[in-house]
Amino acid sequence: MSCSPEELKRKSDDFRAKWDFFARAPGFDGFVEFAVAASSITEFLDAKGLSGLHQSAHALEQKVLSLFDHWSADVMPAATLADLEDQIAGFGERVQAFILGNSSSVAERRLHPEADLLSDLAPRKRIWFVTDTPQDWRDLTGQAGYFNIQADTCNLAQCLGSDQESAVVLVDAQGLEPAALVAGVQALRGRFSASHIVGLNLAADFESLNGALGAGCDFCFPRATPHPVIMDRIVKLCGNEEEAPYRVLVVEDSKTASALIRRTLSEGGIDSLAIARPQEVLTSLGSFQPDLILMDMYMPGCTGVEVTRVIRQHAEFLSTPVVYLSADTHVALQVDALRLGGDHFLTKPFNPVILNAVVKSKIERYRALRRTMYLDSLTGLLNHTTSKQRLDAALATAATEGAPLCVAMLDIDHFKKVNDTYGHPLGDHVIRSMAWLLKQRLRKTDAVGRYGGEEFLVILPGSNAVQARHLLNTIRMDFGQIRHPVPGTTFACTFSGGVAQWAPGGSAEDLIKQADEALYQAKRAGRNQVL
Ligand code: GH3
Ligand code: MG
Ligand code: MG
Ligand code: MG
Repeated sequence: MSCSPEELKRKSDDFRAKWDFFARAPGFDGFVEFAVAASSITEFLDAKGLSGLHQSAHALEQKVLSLFDHWSADVMPAATLADLEDQIAGFGERVQAFILGNSSSVAERRLHPEADLLSDLAPRKRIWFVTDTPQDWRDLTGQAGYFNIQADTCNLAQCLGSDQESAVVLVDAQGLEPAALVAGVQALRGRFSASHIVGLNLAADFESLNGALGAGCDFCFPRATPHPVIMDRIVKLCGNEEEAPYRVLVVEDSKTASALIRRTLSEGGIDSLAIARPQEVLTSLGSFQPDLILMDMYMPGCTGVEVTRVIRQHAEFLSTPVVYLSADTHVALQVDALRLGGDHFLTKPFNPVILNAVVKSKIERYRALRRTMYLDSLTGLLNHTTSKQRLDAALATAATEGAPLCVAMLDIDHFKKVNDTYGHPLGDHVIRSMAWLLKQRLRKTDAVGRYGGEEFLVILPGSNAVQARHLLNTIRMDFGQIRHPVPGTTFACTFSGGVAQWAPGGSAEDLIKQADEALYQAKRAGRNQVL
């Protein structure tokens, strides 16, 4: 899992403490705090990819939120309290069992030093294919190995009896009656608290899909889904790219209100900065780079709408979402606020769960929009423009630090033939495979972008040319081993690369040109080599 058992324990203890506090003296304020904690742990488990625990927490959260509507006077019926207590205890046990099952593997991992200093290999992920026809999945289990994923086939009983955790459990529905599939998925869901459960070979009708999802599947692939599509999903589910915490700028003149807002945001794992004077907004936007602005409507000297209007004069903050907070439910004002570049309007006193949900959904969309601007949609790598910007930034850092830096240009060999023989979608799959392998093998401080069709730019700060060639040649050899599945057979591809080491004072353009020339030499010298 991508979070430590300690982190999960802290989160779960905090959740339990909020419940205990409420249960001792059941009042509305304590209930609100508990509801926020329930939302917070649900989102936390989702973000960490702990799918089974997330499903339990989500059920609990939904129940808690539904109680908001029925809150009468100040009391919660004893039966409801007892029911919640049971559900919370059950959830606590699942978390505890999961923590116990994972502590040792984390401790073991810490004993192993990094094998290769130039590589940042994450611990190998394990996945299971639960199937009665293992031969059908041999191509995928073989291919997964190249992406640092240990994939094996087994039957349902073996999988349930395994004492190893698994990032993804794929259940083959081939030959199973609908009821047997549902029972199997339920059993797996109970056993694998953290794993993603994926259904394979499902009938595409509503009943089958609804049954499998209801039993605990996170995702289902209908029959005849091409294997590369399944592989894409497996690699994504096994990826452990951590997203940076969300950032919110709070513009609010009341100290009490801003403290309350910041506390709510922090419960939801959101970083925030508060300013009381609207005049500081531009400087704070520049230095804090928030994903969203929470804007008070009435402040001394100006309104929130006026502040937003000023913000929108700056191109770089044109799309930063603005959510207004106001005690005023004046409809005309709300309409005006939204017309003048606001994204949402919340009334005070705010419901903390709704506040966090609105903020998060706005930020998610904002980040998705930014991703389409900066990242390549096929591979998730930096796009052409961002790669070049990243190189400029890396060169500036190398110049101040006096450290070496290398750039490599990689290009898949005879790629036109791949497209011509197997079709464009398979060609896309090969490009993605190459992207995954590079992402897996490079350090967090390195950068890799899709520079053109099947051409990649790699930036390796701190490496000299000998080290860079060595690393890229290792990756090249592994890439050549990957068997890409096509119906009835598999095929392999190779790539060529050119490395250039930066000389102090040299420009990014010259460096790319040198790497391109080295790539050209590698192609001329027979391909499948890095020069
Ligand atoms: P070489 O070994 O000399 O590099 O030969 P090559 O066939 O790979 O030649 P080249 O690099 O010039 O060809 C690139 C081909 O990649 C041409 C284009 O049709 C294909 N291509 C470019 N972008 C994409 C893409 O996004 N998806 C797929 N499937 N193919 C692409
Ligand atoms: Mg105010
Ligand atoms: Mg090529
Ligand atoms: Mg090319």
